[in-house]
Amino acid sequence: MQETRTRPAVLILLGPPGAGKGTQARMLEQAFGLVQLSTGDLLRAAVAAGTPAGRAAQAVMARGELVSDEIVLAILNDRLARPDTARGVILDGFPRTPGQAAALDALLDGQGMAIGAAVSIAVDDAAMIARIAGRFTCAECGAGYHDRFKQPHEEGVCDECGGTAFTRRADDTAETVAARLRAYHEQTAPLIAYYESRGVLQTVDGMGAIPDIAGALGAIVKKVTA
Ligand code: AMP
Repeated sequence: MQETRTRPAVLILLGPPGAGKGTQARMLEQAFGLVQLSTGDLLRAAVAAGTPAGRAAQAVMARGELVSDEIVLAILNDRLARPDTARGVILDGFPRTPGQAAALDALLDGQGMAIGAAVSIAVDDAAMIARIAGRFTCAECGAGYHDRFKQPHEEGVCDECGGTAFTRRADDTAETVAARLRAYHEQTAPLIAYYESRGVLQTVDGMGAIPDIAGALGAIVKKVTA
């Protein structure tokens, strides 16, 4: 039977903390109507809401370590069940372990979906520490900013929604960033070879300008949804 509707795009963004996964996922969301699915955001929301999962995850996140697959998969499954994911999702910060990658394969198989691309955003670790140290987001709409690299046009006012309250992540400290980079290299970077062996790996240079990286990612999304 001929497939007539647009295939739901499942795009995975791989890269260490600070690589720009969240920034790029938000841009793709706006440009292509896909849904950004960030397990970090979902976990932070669970922590803020004081749910049992959030209470279990809080200390682990503060140490910069990975939350258990069981908690992350439960949170992800809940989010994927919402109807707005039907056109496709950009997975930002998931999968992060080989176990999560296997669970994702099983989940997508069950829904007749497949991974369109796993994009490795290639960056220098040393630069990531500086990037993370200065970042902050609009408390209202989540738009991302940076003390040095991307200030709002008008100081103290969000470019996107006009909000005036901003937040910084509790785990964006120098010690925690070092632990998060370690966790990335030990547990997540092996997924690059995994997705290469599956024939879905793409690599983009994450050290360039934000619009250039967005352009490279947009071309990949167009290809996988065509
Ligand atoms: P992120 O916002 O992706 O940088 O994630 C922030 C923190 O949330 C990480 O340092 C982990 O503690 C936790 N986290 C986010 N996503 C995952 C995941 N897929 N598996 C395990 N822990 C995660």
